[in-house]
Amino acid sequence: MINFQYVRADDVSDAVRQMAADPAAKFIAGGTNLIDLMKEDVERPTRLIDISRLPLATVEETEGGGLRVGALVPNSDLAWHPKIEQRYPLLSSAILAGASAQLRNMASTGGNLLQRTRCCYFYDTATPCNKREPGSGCSAIEGINRMHAILGTSEACIATHPSDMCVALAALEASVHVAGPSGKRAIAFSDFHRLPGDTPQRDSNLDADEIVVAVELPARGFAANYSYLKIRDRLSYAFALVSVAAALELDGDSIKDARLALGGVAHRPWRDPAAEALLRGQPATPATFEHAADLLLRGAKGFGHNTFKIDLARRVIVRALTQAAQATPQSQSSKKIR
Ligand code: SF4
Repeated sequence: MINFQYVRADDVSDAVRQMAADPAAKFIAGGTNLIDLMKEDVERPTRLIDISRLPLATVEETEGGGLRVGALVPNSDLAWHPKIEQRYPLLSSAILAGASAQLRNMASTGGNLLQRTRCCYFYDTATPCNKREPGSGCSAIEGINRMHAILGTSEACIATHPSDMCVALAALEASVHVAGPSGKRAIAFSDFHRLPGDTPQRDSNLDADEIVVAVELPARGFAANYSYLKIRDRLSYAFALVSVAAALELDGDSIKDARLALGGVAHRPWRDPAAEALLRGQPATPATFEHAADLLLRGAKGFGHNTFKIDLARRVIVRALTQAAQATPQSQSSKKIR
């Protein structure tokens, strides 16, 4: 681990100022990913700017009937917040499907968005990796790629985004509020994370000198018909092979509106407007769900070890939509340790 300076930010403006003064600095909040990356010599910040005491840990009502979640709200507090449980149970369920109780207690909302891929080659500095060292190559494409992406990949990188929370936020059409030297802006969740393209070193469209201050949830929470279904190698403390956030608005047996986002399959939470449009106005039947799954996965491509994910994703999409339609969501209640 390298030597680094440690400083605390007094407020958001001070944090932005300090970051602008030292491009090699990093913000630290819960540290649940950054410290690991520093121990492995993947991240080498010259200074850590501690933002953990900034006043960004509240959940507030918005004028539009939604909620504004401060960037420092711990993942566990967010999952158990009564308003989240009641109005956005899809989000609560997705958060509780991720990590462990201890990690959820430390990890922040903003940090969850910015966590980096768990591609094993990214963490192994003895191997080529375009995300860690642009231009060096991708060890995963012809390597052990069982956990890797099947959608939106590039010749430069086939890594996945590891978050569960972000899959639900994508389905709920949240927005990300950020602050930087030139002021504040809001980024639609669908525009926040990037596909790898030829710049896999960039995970998101957040500029290097910007800070996430909040995530805003719109009023619609799809609380009646939803499911977050996560398939993984262990029941807890494992990243998704495939996960699906499914949310439906039903009119009798007919689908009035639908949201569908996938995790574990791409460099960002994966949504396809065409698949959601196909669901609208159709009966909530297995045949409808299978058509949507086929459409959503039409561009899927395997790399050997992960090719099984294409069939797996199809089945998980159908099952998650069935659970959502029947109002029998995948239970995460065993993850609740209060
Ligand atoms: Fe690096 Fe991406 Fe290839 Fe993994 S998949 S080795 S993160 S370039």
